[in-house]
Amino acid sequence: MALSVSRRAASLKPSSTVAVMNRAKALKAQGVDVLNFGAGEPDFNSPEVAKAAAIAALQANQTRYIETAGDAESRQLLADLLTTRNGIPGVTRDHVIITSGVKMALYLAFQTLFDAAGPDGGPDRSQQDLLLPVPAWVSFAPMAELAGARIVELPTTPESGFKITPQQLKAAITPRSRVVLINSPSNPTSTMYTPDELRALAAVVDEAARTIAPNLVIVADELYQNIVFGSVPFMSIGSVPSVAERTITINGPGKSFAMTGWRLGWASGSGEFGKAVIGAMTKLQGQTTTCVPAFCLAGMRSALTQCEKDLETMRAAFAKRADLIYSLLSGLPGLKLARPQGAFYVFPDISAHLGKTSAGGRKLAGAADFAAALLDEQQMAVVPGEDFGTMGVRHIRMSFACSEAQLTEGARRLGVFIAGLKG
Ligand code: GLU
Repeated sequence: MALSVSRRAASLKPSSTVAVMNRAKALKAQGVDVLNFGAGEPDFNSPEVAKAAAIAALQANQTRYIETAGDAESRQLLADLLTTRNGIPGVTRDHVIITSGVKMALYLAFQTLFDAAGPDGGPDRSQQDLLLPVPAWVSFAPMAELAGARIVELPTTPESGFKITPQQLKAAITPRSRVVLINSPSNPTSTMYTPDELRALAAVVDEAARTIAPNLVIVADELYQNIVFGSVPFMSIGSVPSVAERTITINGPGKSFAMTGWRLGWASGSGEFGKAVIGAMTKLQGQTTTCVPAFCLAGMRSALTQCEKDLETMRAAFAKRADLIYSLLSGLPGLKLARPQGAFYVFPDISAHLGKTSAGGRKLAGAADFAAALLDEQQMAVVPGEDFGTMGVRHIRMSFACSEAQLTEGARRLGVFIAGLKG
């Protein structure tokens, strides 16, 4: 018998965001002047007080295992913030788990909410659908599929700000619906739902839960909560009382506090069900990563309580960059994009250029070709849209978590690339 890896591992798609990040880093290491717009990662350093707190914790020998869900002080702090800042009712420290990055929080949540197989070993198709508004970040679907979910895409357009409507959600919900994913501000589109829109979506979920989909849960990825600069205020959908108990809220310090490499994230629930979900996720964590590093949590607590100024400095910088990239790209021929309101991405529609041939001779059938040609010919790394949902083939994602000089030079190179297209 030939040696092989599992079908699960073999059939898993690699993360395209991580792949672009790695490729850009490798090219840089070879001395190529590559402009990296791939990584969704702030170019700022982590706040000084967070680093100092982590160093002090290391020196105080906070180097051993801690409670599986995270130490009580950190979970209490998060429960307090989720209550006071996010307005989510019914969150105690027993409703919070701290994980190795937001990705692990999502992974554990999906493993806890979806059933992989029925009693006969075959797929249990009773309630397995992930309702996923697309475009959506590249790892939601693969992580949910690993947990046994079937993905139901809810398509959106740049004209509608890449947002689903309550009618669209209502029409998509069936007795098989298990999880609705809400990610606002959104990666990759940087658009946001208004509080009224979130309340309207919550009302649809509440009604469906009382009729056809009693086991329906909202997973709200709120990672970009603090990076908001448009006219839309941030709101947690879990703050709507009728859906609070059926909402699992995910967040982390990586993007807001420039702490991506610390690999911290958390998930929280509300009420009886929320506690059960967090308890089950904790059991899974106990069988996998055990816990997060204590000294990292010391840094996280300092970031969460002492870094309002750092947060504001970074937010203001992202706001300026958002205006700059929006105006630069809107001036390029054939690109359609939504104005960013939060997070730090643009997701231009490049379909006007598909079917053409690049100056270097590459036929542009879809976003992957566009991104590959842009990297080869202009040394500019962007993420092709294919893995953000079916319609992503017409889009590329650019992160604007980089300097204004880089944004200006990137727009120049993209302009040269577009001007060189033939056909
Ligand atoms: N979340 C970031 C991004 O979308 C980092 C890479 C990843 O986890 O996908 O670029």
